Amino acid sequence: MILSCPHKFLTSLNNFDLHNHSNCSDGQLAPRDLVALAVQGGCDALALTDHDNTDGLVEAAVAAAAAGLRFVNGVEISVTWRPDTLHTTLHIVGLDIDPEAPSMVQGLASVRAGRHVRAELMAQDLARVGIVGALEGAYRYAEHPDMISRTHFARFLVEIGKARDVGSAFHHYLVQGKPGYVRHDWTSLAEAIRWIRESHGIPVLAHPGRYRLNAVQMNELLDEFQALGGEAVEVVTGSHSADDMRRFAQIARERGLLASRGADFHGPGESDWAPGTLPLLPAELTPVWTRLRAN
Ligand code: AMP
Ligand code: MN
Ligand code: MN
Ligand code: MN
Repeated sequence: MILSCPHKFLTSLNNFDLHNHSNCSDGQLAPRDLVALAVQGGCDALALTDHDNTDGLVEAAVAAAAAGLRFVNGVEISVTWRPDTLHTTLHIVGLDIDPEAPSMVQGLASVRAGRHVRAELMAQDLARVGIVGALEGAYRYAEHPDMISRTHFARFLVEIGKARDVGSAFHHYLVQGKPGYVRHDWTSLAEAIRWIRESHGIPVLAHPGRYRLNAVQMNELLDEFQALGGEAVEVVTGSHSADDMRRFAQIARERGLLASRGADFHGPGESDWAPGTLPLLPAELTPVWTRLRAN
């Protein structure tokens, strides 16, 4: 007699949270502390998806195993889509990757390589509007210096009283058109998806509702993403409004894309949703976790 149903993990009702950051990129918590918070949030499974690096995966996996929490190796890759025309930054999450696959290791190193020079240019721009010491200030917040990011600058701007919180630091200084914004070329969509596939992972379009694309451009992006082997879109994420969730649930159904769910948690006080606390995926969608290898 079969005592346990082999498909018990394969329902959209499970509390899988598949997009979260640690201090190995621009999150505030060490991987083990993120895991503890996920347990507290009632997660059945957690993915760590740091920007452009996989340094936290081993610590998180060990902590998750000790806590009896299912853990998924992830990454969030920075991409520049249509560099010559739209120049839109996209984030592609890879789930269930092998972090040691050579193309992933080399690819991520190449994406990280430009971050220091960008940071220097950002600091120079901020100096022009009277903000001194931003480079050193931002690096103080970067546990892994090669992952220096705009979020670390935002924390410094809050520290020196130039912004009341991280969101407002972005709004006033760090987004396109503002004094600390520096245009940057990340990798291509094709490369990011190739690295994920070559590391046996599942390519997921992160928070699609955040990109400033019209309906035609979004359609073209999804066509290209699927043609390259993209398999899933985030439907329920910390950066989607209720309207975004409805819109991308519909798109996932129409296009036969798998649906993902993740808080995109960066830290207590900085993120609205802690791991495991978001609404569940709508039941009619096929969750991306049906495709995870057993681990
Ligand atoms: P970077 O890869 O250095 O350009 O930084 C991107 C990160 O900045 C994102 O992953 C978010 O964590 C953060 N971010 C971007 N826009 C905002 C915003 N408007 N408010 C708060 N955080 C933001
Ligand atoms: Mn981030
Ligand atoms: Mn993102
Ligand atoms: Mn993220």
